[in-house]
Amino acid sequence: MARIGHNGAEHGENAMVNGSVVCQKPLRVTRSYLPPLGEYIELLRGIWDNRVLTNQGGNVCRLQRELDTCLGVRGALVVANGTLALQIALTAVGARGGEVVTTPFSYVATAHSILWEHCTPIFVDIEPEHFTIDPGKIEAAITPHTRAILPVHVFGYSCDTDAIRTIAADHKLPVIYDGAHAFGARYKGKSLLSYGDISTCSFHATKLFHTVEGGAVITRDPELAAKMDLMRRFGHNGDEHFCVGINAKMSELHAAMGLAILPHVREIICRRQRICEQYDSLLAGVVEHPSDQPDLEPNYGYYPVLFRDEAQLKKVFAALAAQEIYPRRYFFPALNLIPHVTDKSSCPVAQDIASRIACLPLSDGMTSEDVERVCLTLHLALKSS
Ligand SMILES: *Cc1c(COP(=O)(O)O)cnc(C)c1O
Repeated sequence: MARIGHNGAEHGENAMVNGSVVCQKPLRVTRSYLPPLGEYIELLRGIWDNRVLTNQGGNVCRLQRELDTCLGVRGALVVANGTLALQIALTAVGARGGEVVTTPFSYVATAHSILWEHCTPIFVDIEPEHFTIDPGKIEAAITPHTRAILPVHVFGYSCDTDAIRTIAADHKLPVIYDGAHAFGARYKGKSLLSYGDISTCSFHATKLFHTVEGGAVITRDPELAAKMDLMRRFGHNGDEHFCVGINAKMSELHAAMGLAILPHVREIICRRQRICEQYDSLLAGVVEHPSDQPDLEPNYGYYPVLFRDEAQLKKVFAALAAQEIYPRRYFFPALNLIPHVTDKSSCPVAQDIASRIACLPLSDGMTSEDVERVCLTLHLALKSS
């Protein structure tokens, strides 16, 4: 491990005043990327010139085209956020009111979007290697009321898409992948967002690629695409009304942010890769981190680590917080244990993982000294725990 100065003061960020450290840069689990301001202003100028602010304007259309090219998918439809993307997808496949087989290890929006559509989430435990839904346990959860399967490519790790496709086909069920973490990841040679009947993505400010708030639905099925296109804008086209829709439109200002960030996304991923590789080398043998997944080109969206147990996690968190380092408990608690869900059946693997997993600070702007600071503090905290 590289050595850092006493209190990490050698890089000009920290100053000793009366023996205490001041102005130490806080390191949070993530820090939103912002494009060069001039590039965003250029796009705003276009909006000021033509006064189109929303309703599928030029920026939204261009963002959709550029997302298709960047990801290698067809017909990405952008929406106001990743939660609405899930809700629209659930309604489009006819899941409303039925049971939806899903994972207990995800952000709460996965379960809440299911509940919001008056569906019942049925939780199937995860596999312990990469925390995605355990395909061997899906069939036992399927009933005559099941309307969809909604797995999550959590942290950008791929679900077992082959096994899930087979099960879904056997039971004639649609698959919706929550790909909120999947942007830029490729699995078996194609975008991780191109699997399932529908894949959704989130472009929230905390995600790898963002539009401040935003999301997308992606499908190869032209009928589903047409339906979701209408649903995101009140279900009508001019005076013709087709279905019950909602307002899930992305504004031109949000699309402009996406257009300003997209040209930098390769570079963002590369910088995150370097940070993850530095974590890998400094933390090898120190703390558990998932192995590389075969067939996956990762997007380096998150750096999850597993502690021995929750007590150790809490001790380490306290030691890190004292150095202004703030990892996050992604994801805790397991979703089968949150209020408002009725299926509380036990998911021992997810509950164990959720109790002792956290994501370390990771953003494109982190320096190698920042990574060293996290790792050194972690080392010391683990030694004394
Ligand atoms: C962020 C996130 C969402 C929700 O996306 P929003 O754009 O914030 O609505 C859904 N699922 C997962 C797994 C997420 O991490």
